Amino acid sequence: MTAPTPRPEILTIAAYVGGESKVEGVNRILKLSSNEGAFGPPVSAQEAFRQVAAEIHRYPDGGSGALRRAIGARFGLDPERIVCGTGSDELIQHICHIYGGPGADIIMTMHGFTMYQIAGTYAGSRVLKVPERDLTADVDLILAAVTPATRIVFLANPNNPTGSLLPEEEMARLRRDLPPEVLLVIDAAYAEYVTDPGYDPGIALVDAGDNTIMLRTFSKVFGLGGMRVGWAYGPPAVIDAINRVRGVFNVNIAAQAAAVAALAEPGWVERSVAHNVEWRGRLSAALEALGIKVWPSHGNFFLADFATAARAKRADAFLRGRGIIIRGMAAYDLPHCLRITVGTAEECTLVADALTTFMSARPADGETDG
Ligand SMILES: *Cc1c(COP(=O)(O)O)cnc(C)c1O
Repeated sequence: MTAPTPRPEILTIAAYVGGESKVEGVNRILKLSSNEGAFGPPVSAQEAFRQVAAEIHRYPDGGSGALRRAIGARFGLDPERIVCGTGSDELIQHICHIYGGPGADIIMTMHGFTMYQIAGTYAGSRVLKVPERDLTADVDLILAAVTPATRIVFLANPNNPTGSLLPEEEMARLRRDLPPEVLLVIDAAYAEYVTDPGYDPGIALVDAGDNTIMLRTFSKVFGLGGMRVGWAYGPPAVIDAINRVRGVFNVNIAAQAAAVAALAEPGWVERSVAHNVEWRGRLSAALEALGIKVWPSHGNFFLADFATAARAKRADAFLRGRGIIIRGMAAYDLPHCLRITVGTAEECTLVADALTTFMSARPADGETDG
């Protein structure tokens, strides 16, 4: 007897490990490991969620029509060129299967979002990780990695977990110099947090051709990670292809209602961004004052660089002991770094206090920073 066998590449995939939310023996947890917005879900989204409860025997609108129209109105986009997904993760998977596959290479950067690697490998593609410079994508290095087999380039801008941002001219140069048959996927999951005046989340490049798609999500600034809603804006032919293969009822009825309501919550994004700028700045400054290097970030998180993997690990364990969960970066090949989500004012203060204690304590016997 032989057992069912997955395709060999499936077993090369390391399952995605999300941010943890529990620590054994600790009651009060500060979860700063998944870049969920600092303010919880918008009140209007919670209300919409409760209201829809009496309707959950109904199938949702399979085309997420009202949600696409609300997104279109909010961002000035044609709803016909938008497709919604069960988080943008679902859309990443479809893109890999539609445009990738055996014999088709997919390019991402060294410290890019791991979902690209998982989805690309699942589709049967080879996924190439291109080196970065100073934890920032480098257009020349990406272009140098392109071969006739390249079909997709994934780039998050700002990038998670590094927080780095490529300027608009560099994004435009990347698009211009990529072969036209290569789909450029601009993942703008953190777009709302960017305050740089010249920033475009990818809309201009989508509009300028038929080979660029932009991904967005309700999981970060809109505080709806548990609802699983993402969306893409792209060329009609790409949106059409995704619509042919996506889950027919991929975005559930509660998720659609909550997302529409979140978009309408007055001042939500403005308040979230103002808070993020203030507390990302304050917490970064506090860490730098302690001698911890902080990588500049354009998202609602940043990398704290402890110089050695051993020290990062000790800091992580120390914080955990106080119920503070942040994200270890070994899976991103940055074992000397920890990624910290910008939480509430109180949460940021507690992180700063805990790291102050950590940095002032000498390593216990047998623990070194080597
Ligand atoms: C969080 C995140 C996503 C998306 O998430 P969904 O919850 O699936 O919408 C996509 N890309 C990046 C870079 C992210 O950090």
